Amino acid sequence: MHTEEKELSCAECATLNCHKHESRYPKFCLTSNVEASMLDTSLACYQEEGMDRTIALAAAEIEGKYYGTLTRVEEILAFARRIGARKIGIASCVGLVNESQIFAEILKINGFDVFMAICKVGSRDKTEIGLQETQKIRPNTFEPMCNPILQAKYANKAQTDLNVIMGLCVGHDSLFIKYAKAPITYLVVKDRVLGHNPIAALHLTKTYYKKLLTPREL
Ligand code: SF4
Repeated sequence: MHTEEKELSCAECATLNCHKHESRYPKFCLTSNVEASMLDTSLACYQEEGMDRTIALAAAEIEGKYYGTLTRVEEILAFARRIGARKIGIASCVGLVNESQIFAEILKINGFDVFMAICKVGSRDKTEIGLQETQKIRPNTFEPMCNPILQAKYANKAQTDLNVIMGLCVGHDSLFIKYAKAPITYLVVKDRVLGHNPIAALHLTKTYYKKLLTPREL
């Protein structure tokens, strides 16, 4: 029987030798087997003057200077300053609007202009894009759709220099990222069950979230 060769990647690596050079690269390693042109063109993005270089240097400088000492809120302030951003777009989930407004205040206190659009902007019912009433959280009631594309269009129109995602849903964030023009970073990653701390599920796979390690129909 023909079996397709399994594609191995960093997901199966047990050495992480690219990180510390204290071990060996595995046979399938993405570092030791990299195509020279792929590596070179990626390096060229950082070496040429432009936003890629500015972002990469800012991120690395903040990591080095403030390692383990700044909250992500503070890191975003430091990052925005270093990339020369003046106007910050906030793409907020309606469920996090209070926190987003506090963040907006912090940005303003620090001299930034702020433009925020929440996910329900446009206020159209979910059925308008083909969702069935039975698929709503509360069927047969007005349930506004999330409109991350409109959030992005608003951010683009406001000419934001950096956009910050505040807890957009899985998938809605994908659309915001697809349509927004300015660079994007996250302040909050939504997890409605774990207090917006999704990594907790991974930390608990030996105990309470063991179920994650078995296949499930979701
Ligand atoms: S690049 Fe190579 S050494 Fe690094 S994690 Fe991936 S497979 Fe492991």
